[in-house]
Amino acid sequence: MTDIILPGSLIGENKKSKVLPLIDGRNELIETKLTEFDFENDDPEKLEYDLLNSMRFYDGLGLAANQVGINARAFAMIHDNTPMVLFNPKVISVTEEKILVKEGCLTWYGLFPKILRPAGVTINWKDKTGQEFSGSFIDISARIILHEYDHLNGYTFFDRVKPMHLKSAKNKAKIYIRQMKKKD
Ligand SMILES: [Zn+2]
Repeated sequence: MTDIILPGSLIGENKKSKVLPLIDGRNELIETKLTEFDFENDDPEKLEYDLLNSMRFYDGLGLAANQVGINARAFAMIHDNTPMVLFNPKVISVTEEKILVKEGCLTWYGLFPKILRPAGVTINWKDKTGQEFSGSFIDISARIILHEYDHLNGYTFFDRVKPMHLKSAKNKAKIYIRQMKKKD
């Protein structure tokens, strides 16, 4: 476990936090439909802080709560260079247009399969105070939202990837691992 400190601007004040460990991809929580975040009984401030801190530590663009062992519908993401946490998000609509883009996932580090997903998405969600928001997203933000939203429903990019794209990504991952080994 590593202690890191976020800049105060991100969370209001400096606090120490533990980085939450990433759980194994075979853990059943990865394939579990998560339960709604309970604003009455759970601590949204702490969850937001832990998700942001962990996403930053692992250098991810998105992180769903189950990836770090928490059963709650919330994920962290970077949108327009700004880290944010979305609680109880709901996808309202997606664009008909789909695009094939390489994706990564912190749960399967080093694997970047091409995944076909809608180019844009409209969602609503709550922030840590319970205030409701809605918005439409395109490009990388839409991609992150759709990937993380899948995690909340117990799906991963393996549920979306075409076999040929997975094979190609696995071959490239092997090359990547070999190159890493050569450097040692
Ligand atoms: Zn992921």
